[in-house]
Amino acid sequence: MRRFAKFPRFGLRSIHRPSRKANERVPSCQLGEGTHVRIVNAGGRLALELSDGIVDVATASNGSFGPDVQEVYDQWSEFVEWAKGQTELTGPHPAQEDLGAPAPRPRQIFAIGLNYKDHADETGSAYPDSPLVFTKFQTSIAAPFGSLILPSGDVDWEVEMVVIIGTGGANIAEADAWSRVAGLTVGQDYSERAIQLAGTPPQFSMGKSFPGFSPLGPRLVTIDEFENVDDLALSCDIDGEIVQDGRTNHLLFNVPQLIAWLSSITPLTPGDLIFTGTPAGVGMARNPRRFLEPGEVVTSTIEGIGSIAQRCVSA
Ligand code: ZN
Repeated sequence: MRRFAKFPRFGLRSIHRPSRKANERVPSCQLGEGTHVRIVNAGGRLALELSDGIVDVATASNGSFGPDVQEVYDQWSEFVEWAKGQTELTGPHPAQEDLGAPAPRPRQIFAIGLNYKDHADETGSAYPDSPLVFTKFQTSIAAPFGSLILPSGDVDWEVEMVVIIGTGGANIAEADAWSRVAGLTVGQDYSERAIQLAGTPPQFSMGKSFPGFSPLGPRLVTIDEFENVDDLALSCDIDGEIVQDGRTNHLLFNVPQLIAWLSSITPLTPGDLIFTGTPAGVGMARNPRRFLEPGEVVTSTIEGIGSIAQRCVSA
């Protein structure tokens, strides 16, 4: 994929081999021809992504919308209406190392455990009766491309589809749930398993919240871009070796069910995140176990959204 050719610092040129299916829609984005909107965090500034470059939102809107990426979710409906009419580029596509997370400071981050049958099976866990929820603390959020500092030898990978909430609300019906979503992005739920699984009962949130453990990106894609938003291929590879390969139609609790359940207890606010769970193929379920080692590059891909990548380094 061409985008990775700009990312030589992490050696991705030679090892990244995303499936064609995962990327075939990426170059087709053209605002003005459709209804969808893509946004990126370009060096800390909110930008619309068009096929040939970007539109700096604060500049192009004369300040109607600010440069802060997180704040746009508070004006999401107005923003999308404005964005659909934009065709004048203000600059080229940013280099991958200049991209930031498309939701850098969410008020709330929900993450769902054991939300794919094959992942519950591989860990020997029963299927949850209701969503198993933990958080990834905000300081764990990271840019889509960069280094992952390994605090120990027990760090595992979990590719996940991440929902970014738009208007949000309380007591959202399943039928209304997708309309409250701003869009989707690719996430990694990096997990330090020794800390995650220590204690009885275990506490998931700390082992999943080291700095850099929640990279997001490379972009937000609105849901109207997908033919079937409830069935997207997602995969993870390490140095080109596919370790996870699933589809979101295998979620035990799908996105509408998660939003309905979460919002029945906790109102969802603009820009909140939901890490929706990971399919089978994590390192701790392997025999022998496998954890990340310095020098390895982890690439996570979702069909129609793109890929993110981290190069593991020792602490
Ligand atoms: Zn997870």
